[in-house]
Amino acid sequence: MEAEKRISGQVKQITSVSNPIVKDLRGLSLRKNRNKTNLFVGEGLKLVTDALQQKWRIRDIVYGKSVADQDAIAQAAAKVRAAGGSVLEVSNQVLEKISRKDNPQMVLGVFEQRFQDVSEIRPSGDDVWVALDRVRDPGNLGTVLRTADCVGAKGVILVGDCTDPYSLEAVRASMGSIFHVPLAKASEGEFLQWKQRSGVRVVGTHLAGAVDYRTADFGEPGIVLMGNEQQGLTDALSDACDQLVIIPMDGQADSLNLAVSTGIVLFEARRAKLSL
Ligand code: SAM
Repeated sequence: MEAEKRISGQVKQITSVSNPIVKDLRGLSLRKNRNKTNLFVGEGLKLVTDALQQKWRIRDIVYGKSVADQDAIAQAAAKVRAAGGSVLEVSNQVLEKISRKDNPQMVLGVFEQRFQDVSEIRPSGDDVWVALDRVRDPGNLGTVLRTADCVGAKGVILVGDCTDPYSLEAVRASMGSIFHVPLAKASEGEFLQWKQRSGVRVVGTHLAGAVDYRTADFGEPGIVLMGNEQQGLTDALSDACDQLVIIPMDGQADSLNLAVSTGIVLFEARRAKLSL
């Protein structure tokens, strides 16, 4: 039986897990579908509110019927509708199906992805950008976005074959910073050409770095370049760096986690700009 109807032409109710809209939304857990549609899913009312504040395009807000009478949800839904998005009120079963979880968040948003081309970036003044070489772990990427946001970095450049910043895991780990921190993509070659053209200073982090990160010249503007979790920076990238820095270590571990080391170096790069 068709379990979908329109209320006042504004809120679409979905109770059947076989509704084709459910299939589409569920499909966004796959990167190939996110790429095809240029959309992604984020969970939670806070995320939807962050996106609305940042004037991010929201295609749909989806919420469980059991929370439909909450003021905050009604307000968010009204804003989504005013911005041209759809409002979907769904059963718990449908929510579970879409989010592939037994206890899903009661609110989801479907957002449009945004990427800048690296050639459009013109660093100036005391801008700091983060560049990540082939980051593989979505949790690391989301945490780097959150950290970049915390220090006031201008954005994150994904170099080479990186994990998708718009996966559910990366979006979740970013804690809303996905909407605050501009993202750019570049192949290694494009990044190197751009570095040469723009003349921006690039400080790479490397286990064989000769300079203590606390004495580095991060440049104004500057890029902090981080290596892949398994292999570190490629030779081509490390050769192109203006300086290679290391975080001195004193235990048995051979390296720090990528997101942790990004945090340490970024706070140093922005030390003079951060105050209470
Ligand atoms: N086996 C890898 C290697 O040989 O480079 C380890 C990579 S580490 C897990 C991931 C990235 O974190 C590194 O490429 C570097 O950017 C950064 N990193 C981790 N520990 C570091 C340290 N002590 N000093 C500088 N960078 C570090």
